[in-house]
Amino acid sequence: MLLPALPLLKKARAKKYAVPAFNINNLEILKAVIEAAIAMKSPVIVQTSEGAIEYAGMDYLIAMACVAAEAPIPVVLHLDHGKDLKVIRQAIRSGYTSIMFDGSALPYEKNVVMTKRVVGWAHAKKISVEAELGVLTGIEDLVNVDARDAALTNPDQAAAFVEATGCDSLAVAIGTSHGAYKFQGKTHLDIQRLKEIAARVTIPLVLHGASGVLEDVTKLAEHYGASLGRARGVLDQDIQTAIQCGVAKVNIDTDLRIAFTAGIRKAVADLPKAIDPRKLLEPANDLMTQVAKRKMKLFGSAGKA
Ligand SMILES: [Zn+2]
Repeated sequence: MLLPALPLLKKARAKKYAVPAFNINNLEILKAVIEAAIAMKSPVIVQTSEGAIEYAGMDYLIAMACVAAEAPIPVVLHLDHGKDLKVIRQAIRSGYTSIMFDGSALPYEKNVVMTKRVVGWAHAKKISVEAELGVLTGIEDLVNVDARDAALTNPDQAAAFVEATGCDSLAVAIGTSHGAYKFQGKTHLDIQRLKEIAARVTIPLVLHGASGVLEDVTKLAEHYGASLGRARGVLDQDIQTAIQCGVAKVNIDTDLRIAFTAGIRKAVADLPKAIDPRKLLEPANDLMTQVAKRKMKLFGSAGKA
């Protein structure tokens, strides 16, 4: 059975580890993630963006997640970056056990009103809500203190926001950004800001844009023809520090995408005679499982199922 997210996240924050949340949009990614979670005895959140729903169809995704949830580990199905109220309502009705409402692009007051509304719908069905405050933008784009303060999550405002909305977990902006090109030079997060947020906000905190852009996997993809340029992610050490400071859910999408890309490219190059999709997908599936396992070790969720 798919489980609610909140008890898992509360326990994770209390015990200073993070539950991994992997974006899925097909059977292969889902199976890779679940296989890793079983092997590592880790709780796991599978999450679908609105784009994934558009690609695969919500009914297919829910049906697959329900089968996945028969695994002997806790599995949550979460809506990632819900913005479209129709999609959010449909997800709440149809079997998702966790919802994100992303009002981060709205003016503060509007974000409060909309988040509160979604919290009302979700709580009526005992579903928890992740909200977001601040802009997920690479820290290097914020050239001075004022720019930083305007974009990143403000600790006092975060406390007021959680109080006003009743949200269950909060995605914070501390210098991470989505995608494979997060930093130019040295990567660094605003850990001091995170500490200040965590001192005022006791609900579980969530880190988006947290892929590491793993060097070995990126090199493998490039060896087989991918052109990823100066892709650069968050350092493992920064992730671990963030988890010690209150982050209880870490989202991973890019690292699985790169693993998938590396595996597919390798199979196509190594197996010119293969026409069986299963043979062509096998290395991608294996690489995604390996990457998911590494994340579970890094986040400290291994052995916590
Ligand atoms: Zn995100």
